[in-house]
Amino acid sequence: MVRRADLDWVLRRLHDALGPVPEVAADPLETLVLTILSQNTTDVNRDRAYASLMARFASFDAIADGEVDGIAAAVSPAGLQRQKAASIRAVLRRVRAREGALDLSFLGRMSTDEALAWLLASPGVGEKTASIVLLFSFGRPVFPVDTHIRRVLTRLGWITGGGSPYREANELLPKDPARMRDLHLLLIELGRTICRARRAECAICPLVERCDVGGRVRAGVS
Ligand code: SF4
Repeated sequence: MVRRADLDWVLRRLHDALGPVPEVAADPLETLVLTILSQNTTDVNRDRAYASLMARFASFDAIADGEVDGIAAAVSPAGLQRQKAASIRAVLRRVRAREGALDLSFLGRMSTDEALAWLLASPGVGEKTASIVLLFSFGRPVFPVDTHIRRVLTRLGWITGGGSPYREANELLPKDPARMRDLHLLLIELGRTICRARRAECAICPLVERCDVGGRVRAGVS
């Protein structure tokens, strides 16, 4: 378990170096659809796909009633369009079949484990998507792990990088939704700008003092 004081040191360093945490969508359905669209693409393409989807279909109900081909055409800027179209339509239909309306607020009345299990039972919804919806739209203490976060946490020495990084990270972090939210967004930004996949810029990294890889780089070991 990471101590709260150590987590706060990391958050302070990241805030100081990278600036304020950006605002993100909190509406549960919007968050769910955006996160499905974000798989294997950039934020710019995700946002283009979402804008195109909402321009073509008047509402989430219209998307749920739509043809996969039409939804796929609308979300094509995000790539993997048929797969994403089928997943979006399936999860919207599943919500409507349960609630009689496109309303995810029932997740807020479930325990975190129940809500997670419900989301994970939807086609195309994995741990990252489910945990983003629960953390950002319902304030639940589940930490989403994407490829940037997996890489940074592995280099820091917080997780092993083998097995399930999602499980490791969630066992490691204090169950604090506000800190998890900030850490999620800031680690992604660090992974995009400094701790990149092909090259880690340890010399300018705000976390170098407490990083396994950064420590070896500073010691001239690797
Ligand atoms: S010190 Fe280097 S390896 Fe560690 S988090 Fe920063 S950039 Fe990544």
